[in-house]
Amino acid sequence: MEFSFSPEEEAFQSIVRRFAQEELAPHYVRWDRGEPFPKEKLKAMAQVGLTGMRAPIEWGGQDASYVQCGIAAEEVGRADFNCTLFLQIWNIWGELLRLAPSSLQKEWYPPLVSGEKIFAFALTEPDAGSDAAHIRTRARREGDYYVLDGEKASITFAGQADVAVVFARTGEEGARGISCLLVPLHLPGVSRSVYRSPGERLTQRGSLFFSGVKVPATYLIGREGQGFYLAMGAFDFNRAIIGLCCLGAALQSLEETVGYLKGRRAFGRPLATFQGVAFQIAEHLTRLEAARLLCYRALWLKDQGLPHVREAAMAKWFSGMVAVDAIRACIILHGHYGYSQDLPLEQRLRDVLGLEIGDGTPEIMKLIIARETFGREYLPR
Ligand SMILES: Cc1cc2nc3c(=O)[nH]c(=O)nc-3n(C[C@H](O)[C@H](O)[C@H](O)COP(=O)(O)OP(=O)(O)OC[C@H]3O[C@@H](n4cnc5c(N)ncnc54)[C@H](O)[C@@H]3O)c2cc1C
Repeated sequence: MEFSFSPEEEAFQSIVRRFAQEELAPHYVRWDRGEPFPKEKLKAMAQVGLTGMRAPIEWGGQDASYVQCGIAAEEVGRADFNCTLFLQIWNIWGELLRLAPSSLQKEWYPPLVSGEKIFAFALTEPDAGSDAAHIRTRARREGDYYVLDGEKASITFAGQADVAVVFARTGEEGARGISCLLVPLHLPGVSRSVYRSPGERLTQRGSLFFSGVKVPATYLIGREGQGFYLAMGAFDFNRAIIGLCCLGAALQSLEETVGYLKGRRAFGRPLATFQGVAFQIAEHLTRLEAARLLCYRALWLKDQGLPHVREAAMAKWFSGMVAVDAIRACIILHGHYGYSQDLPLEQRLRDVLGLEIGDGTPEIMKLIIARETFGREYLPR
């Protein structure tokens, strides 16, 4: 058993931590309050190698390990939770493009790796989220094109993405009839709307509408009918990554709270000396550390090519829950100062909560854990 990062991973961690604390953290609240997110930040993230972690080396990527992707997620999560959404999408796109024709790789790896374009992943629909095998968006083959009609809901970066992978029905009902198309969002027939979201505002989550959009047939990723399985494959490792994004935000909050509790006095003593206060920190730190081990283990299993679907679901459910609980406690431990927009705590709570839902809710994570434990024939209802 080996519980430490390698020297290379430690070096990478310190580079990302320094970058994220200096370049991202000071601006975290600005993108929450309506200032447009500057694309230069993406190029800066590209310069420290965050864009192409799962892109092949031949296309300028790093082909990084999944554990290394987790390190990046945790460090960026500490600084600006919402910027982790870019990381997640870059990782997923880095993987999916591997299955695309070389013409598409040539067109889309360079802007991915350079941070020039914004990417999205469009699976959810107004009537199909957890039950994603029953999406209704259609891609009808007509000659050299697919004609795309439908609506995608709750899509991260809907408001600003240049391109999306869109999961659409090309065949029979159910999972086997779904395909994955790369859709540039400037095509005629695409429109979008942005939600009024309680958190993750930087990401302009919203809906994408497709009305008779002609997508070249060469923009198919993978085979026809493979789309649902590609989407589930992307979720599977991203769930452990999400866990680490949430834990990064929570660990940062706890560290800030420890500093505050040492300095703030009540009843003639530092708050940190009250057992009722210090034990809360001890308990949350223990839960966060346990969750962190779950996440890194799931990613390590993925790196070894070992089964990890159950572990990734455990990591997402448990990490999201303990992170939200810890941040909430940090707010209360700050007293009225915590219940204020002057500290980043309330924003972290709003932001992290969104990813308890995104990529699969706690109930769906438990359903997966139960399915992988009991077997498909005992799938809980
Ligand atoms: C911040 C955020 C970002 C997102 N980004 C993206 C994105 O980029 N791309 C994308 O495609 N989607 C995205 N989503 C959508 C997300 O993946 C879905 O919201 C999620 O899968 C749940 O689907 P739903 O909202 O339709 O809820 P529903 O499926 O309607 O579920 C509603 C409730 O019922 C519960 N439930 C459903 N089925 C069961 C069951 N069998 N057993 C027990 N309980 C059940 C759920 O757990 C949930 O609590 C995002 C969502 C959020 C909040």
